[in-house]
Formats: sequence, C-alpha cells, structure tokens
Amino acid sequence: MLQDQEAHAAEMERTFIAIKPDGVQRGLISEIVSRFERKGFKLVAIKIVIPSKDFAEKHYHDLKERPFFNGLCDFLSSGPVVAMVWEGEGVIKYGRKLIGATDPQKSEPGTIRGDLAVVVGRNIIHGSDGPETAKDEINLWFKPEELVSYTSNAEKWVYGVN
Ligand code: UDP
Ligand code: MG
Repeated sequence: MLQDQEAHAAEMERTFIAIKPDGVQRGLISEIVSRFERKGFKLVAIKIVIPSKDFAEKHYHDLKERPFFNGLCDFLSSGPVVAMVWEGEGVIKYGRKLIGATDPQKSEPGTIRGDLAVVVGRNIIHGSDGPETAKDEINLWFKPEELVSYTSNAEKWVYGVN
C-alpha cells in the first residue's frame, strides 16, 4: 500500500538504543546494528563512549530503588557503550521487539537477547521503553547537532512512499 509523504512523516519516531559493555566486548556491535539496519530502520546518530557512574545513574534513574541499581550502573560505566539513535515508523515499540524480553531466559529465539545473551545482568543491549523515555534518553546521550537528519535511499522502498 502506498503511503503519502505527510502520513509517513507523522508516523516517524526516534528511539535510543545502546550496546552495553558486554555486547561491545563480545564483538556484537555489527550483529546488533545490522538487525536494525536490515529491518529498514535508519541510523541517525552513533558514538562509542565510556559513561561515568554518575551518567549511568542518570540514565537508569527510574530504577534507583531496585536492588540491582548500583551493580547495573557500575556495569554500564565499566567500559565502552555504543550509543545510537534509530529512526523509523514504530521504531520505539518494534525496537523493543527486536531486543526481546529483559531476561534472556524469557526472550524468544530470533530476538537479540534471545539469540545472543543468557542472563539478565548481561543482556547486551538497552532500548527506550516508550515515547517519553526515548525523548529523555536521546537528550541525555546526544547533543542536538549529533543527530543527523537525512533521506535514506532505501526509504521509498521500505515504506512505499510516493
Ligand atoms: N536488570 C537486572 N536485574 C533485574 C532486572 C533488570 O540486572 O532483575 C538490569 C538489566 O540489565 C536490564 C536493566 O537492568 O536491561 C534495566 O532494567 P529494565 O527493567 O528497564 O529492563 P530493559 O528495559 O532493559 O528490558
Ligand atoms: Mg528499561
């Protein structure tokens, strides 16, 4: 079905995706990037950083009452993280589907965590869980000028936009 430009633009979303230190150290960057890329989503920002503990605590602020919070923030700040912003129709919700359940024991085969991780504390990837968190996380990790707006050559084929 062909979609017009305006309807397509209105459906566009951005989400924050991070490959955690375990995913980076295990050599899974290209595997993870390729799953989002092959799906048809568009990469609009990417960088590799070692977040400070303080930064990790900001990122996971919603979880500060949880018993695993300190260990989680220690881990996130223990090594390089690949921070990305992906754009596409439905990318926030579908990105979570590509990632799979939080506990890799419960993630379906075919998902990133289902295929590539075994335990919850080393589940290799983060993805925003809704539109509000996506906005907050993108703002926390990236300056506006680090987000690149462009038309991908694939877009008209992915969306059937005329
Ligand atoms: N986590 C953990 N133990 C738990 C639950 C979560 O170590 O019992 C970690 C896990 O790495 C997870 C992160 O905390 O990815 C954030 O938890 P959240 O519930 O937001 O899961 P996610 O959104 O990453 O699926
Ligand atoms: Mg979460």
